[in-house]
Amino acid sequence: MFGLIGHLTSLEHAQSVARELGYPEYADQGLEFWCSAPPQIVDHIKVTSATGQQIEGVYVESCFLPEMLAGSKIKTAIRKILNAMAHAQKHDVDITALGGFSSIIFENFNLSQMSSVRNVQLEFSRFTTGNTHTAYIICRQIEEASRKFGIDLAKATVTVCGATGDIGSAVCRWIDARLNIKDLLLVARNQERLQELQGQLGRGKVLSMDEALPQSDIIVWVASMAKGMAIDAKTLKRPCILIDGGYPKNMNTLVQEDGIHVINGGIVEHSLDIDWKIMKIVNMSAPARQLFACFAEAMLLEFEGWHTNFSWGRNQITLENMDKIGAVSIKHGFRPLIG
Ligand code: NDP
Repeated sequence: MFGLIGHLTSLEHAQSVARELGYPEYADQGLEFWCSAPPQIVDHIKVTSATGQQIEGVYVESCFLPEMLAGSKIKTAIRKILNAMAHAQKHDVDITALGGFSSIIFENFNLSQMSSVRNVQLEFSRFTTGNTHTAYIICRQIEEASRKFGIDLAKATVTVCGATGDIGSAVCRWIDARLNIKDLLLVARNQERLQELQGQLGRGKVLSMDEALPQSDIIVWVASMAKGMAIDAKTLKRPCILIDGGYPKNMNTLVQEDGIHVINGGIVEHSLDIDWKIMKIVNMSAPARQLFACFAEAMLLEFEGWHTNFSWGRNQITLENMDKIGAVSIKHGFRPLIG
């Protein structure tokens, strides 16, 4: 059985979902309520592969909200992720994806040092960040969107916002090795890590966001921001492709308009309907078929019987593993979402 640990994007989102799911008494509650709510299995899932194979899984709502990262709620955020992991393990889930901020909290706060959760000794080999598949899907989105919207990669400047992150650094390595682009621009806040990445790649210009965006034909957003930022479309080139892989989204306002192509980054579409309810509440346009690539990674590991932490740690994603997960992604009927 596979598991998915997820969370909602904001307190406002959590309140509207509670109302929609028929829990009006939760819909009026503030952050404190969500801080004390335990993890829950809220969906049972059946997935059929393009090969005909069927698997089953569960969705664990961690009740973490990005607002907890602000201010003094860090300990609560940590507790949410550890409790959700223990909950999945107690329900005998073989392989569970840590969606959205779950894996970021796990890494940033060194949760591998906290493997005891009450009477559960966490077995980390039962969890995956899902970031290898996410990075692979974003790279395929760059290739397919550039073809669709007529951007010649050989003449293109590509910016990666969040370049030094786990997904961002893998995307940079893929671009460097597999795509013939003109310029690669690297954006993040910590300059030391940016210089280190630039050194490893042997290429790429380190620029601020304000400098990089107006020069870019393609912008990949994989920054771990608790809230999306406003982007002024007037400052962008036309055409420009923006692939927003953040969860919550890195860009909060930008919409499709003439020459501006916004792509839902790190999202896959399955070739068959999935028997579940959960993707409706994260506003997928085809909720029976569309899902986060990190969640799809747990499904792929279950389909293949690879019950191991395929994506783990930070900045260790290899091109070889991206190829490996990419091949089984295609085999089981997933494809990158474009448009
Ligand atoms: P990491 O924490 O490994 O990396 C985050 C990157 O963002 C770092 O380079 C960090 O560098 C940069 N960053 C953070 N804040 C800012 C900022 N304000 N401005 C510019 N850069 C910033 O995260 P992951 O690679 O694991 O995840 C990245 C994003 O992808 C997250 O939003 C996550 O929720 C999402 N995600 C999506 C998935 C999907 O299936 N679609 C799956 C998994 C994750 P620095 O701190 O130096 O600025």
